[in-house]
Amino acid sequence: MSSTITWYDDFLGVAYRYFDLRMNVVPLFSDRKKATDIWNEYVHWWSDHDIKLRFVETGDHYWFIIASETRRPDHNMAFFKMLPMSAHYARFKKGHLGEAYFRFATYSQKEEKDVKGDAVCNCSHTKEDHEGACQIDGCNCEQFQTFELRLFKKKKTITDIKFLEEKDVKDDSIAWNCLYVNKYKNSA
Ligand SMILES: [Zn+2]
Ligand SMILES: [Zn+2]
Repeated sequence: MSSTITWYDDFLGVAYRYFDLRMNVVPLFSDRKKATDIWNEYVHWWSDHDIKLRFVETGDHYWFIIASETRRPDHNMAFFKMLPMSAHYARFKKGHLGEAYFRFATYSQKEEKDVKGDAVCNCSHTKEDHEGACQIDGCNCEQFQTFELRLFKKKKTITDIKFLEEKDVKDDSIAWNCLYVNKYKNSA
């Protein structure tokens, strides 16, 4: 791994979803063109066997870290994001079986008027269950809201996945580089 890694975190978050038999690890972007450009410029040149996916847990948050050597060594980027612990993350950690697909997606908010009656709100009830607020007993959702996730077809296969605690990052070069550059150096 080169010493000067460019770290990138200008994306919305990360989704963990089952598609195509494997778990998918999916950075989410709001802008489709920007995501496509980043994929083509950088991720496209990664070799599957070299991709390293790291999770560094720290209290109620974790660092998402993904990096690889590239066939264009002077032109590379690695990705990270500090994210809150979530049920999706926990499910991925338990269920990934050592492999995952890496792909991008766009993520956009949809309003009530843009979707059909059977569309599901973030509260898990359908649009038809809402009259402004959700009408299901015991649900305190006040406004129908849903999101659309559009997965890109292009993907990479990850087989090097590690879950670390912050005290262990010194033993892992890529996790250490990420936290050093994006956390310790700035707070020193
Ligand atoms: Zn709702
Ligand atoms: Zn509801």
